Amino acid sequence: MRAELALALLLAAPAARAGDLGSEVTFARQHRAQFSVYAGFGRRVVFDSGASDLPGGDWDTLIIQGELPDQAVHFIAARDGGPLAWVDLQVRRFPDGRFWARGRFPKGAGGVRLRAVDDGAATDHEVTIYGAEVFSDGPDASTTPPPSRGPMDPGAARPFVHGRAEWRAAAPTNPLSPDPLPWRVTLHHTDGRYTASLSESLEETRFIQDFHQNGRKWSDIAYHFVVDPLGNIIEGRPLETLGAHTLNNNEGNVGIVLLGTYHAPKNDKTTAAQLAAVAAIGRFLVKRFGIEPSSLKGHRDYKQTDCPGDLAYPKLAELRTAFGSAPAVARKPRRGATPASLPSTVDWDQSAKNSAANPSATR
Ligand SMILES: [Zn+2]
Repeated sequence: MRAELALALLLAAPAARAGDLGSEVTFARQHRAQFSVYAGFGRRVVFDSGASDLPGGDWDTLIIQGELPDQAVHFIAARDGGPLAWVDLQVRRFPDGRFWARGRFPKGAGGVRLRAVDDGAATDHEVTIYGAEVFSDGPDASTTPPPSRGPMDPGAARPFVHGRAEWRAAAPTNPLSPDPLPWRVTLHHTDGRYTASLSESLEETRFIQDFHQNGRKWSDIAYHFVVDPLGNIIEGRPLETLGAHTLNNNEGNVGIVLLGTYHAPKNDKTTAAQLAAVAAIGRFLVKRFGIEPSSLKGHRDYKQTDCPGDLAYPKLAELRTAFGSAPAVARKPRRGATPASLPSTVDWDQSAKNSAANPSATR
């Protein structure tokens, strides 16, 4: 293991990234950092970079990459100077331990302070950070910093979801970008058909995907979950992939859409079963990812739009309360239904490789 790691260090090339790069971040002029993690000490900070050298220019994104043998270790970072506001870096780790991690910050200048947190590593090991860089991801960057996150439970019980196979989903037209640690939820309506049966809802979902893929030229249906008036939950874009439902604010954002038009002149009405289904998704997300229930918003909270409609928007308050309440009894699968494989059916290794080669293929 040590020999392999040493070889990996020798072979490691500097971070290669197509397109516009920001500034390399160095710590006491070193761009590489290495530290040991010892098993059996419980949750604690195992690495603190101290303040980095000052990178040039304003930045809103930090990305690091290296070797992470145990996925129990994660990273947080803050902009140096002033009170430290720690941001969770979203980690993408391949089975062989190669990883990159990325965090978004309010735009500004300043050095970086980086910490690694061990949540309970199984074995002693070494973590290596090959490099870190900061850059500005452009004017589209979300200015909302991720809120604090509660505990995450990978075994959280999930509601039953009708999988993509049930509505004969087309494959994504481009690889979807990973977005593995969502921290907020946005409610939409389709401004479309108010369906009256599961089969009609599956067909409407298939239509929406076609509209988004071939009409709007996006990679897949924009939303992660589709909820019909009967309370059926249908899988959209796989969870833990970047959505395309809230312009400039898709990062970390789970999109849930209600089938129908909850706005004048059509004025479809939300149903109790439908709201219960949205609440079940929300409770799962809160438990699984530590998402704050207060992060649930309507599309109109982000931009000028009627979405999710004047009749659905007022339901957000009770949904936030429901997101934070005790889980209801798990819904039973209907007979003949194909369960979706949550959290994701994506081949991450392949999609990460592809999106690195084609970073614009995110919608
Ligand atoms: Zn919307």
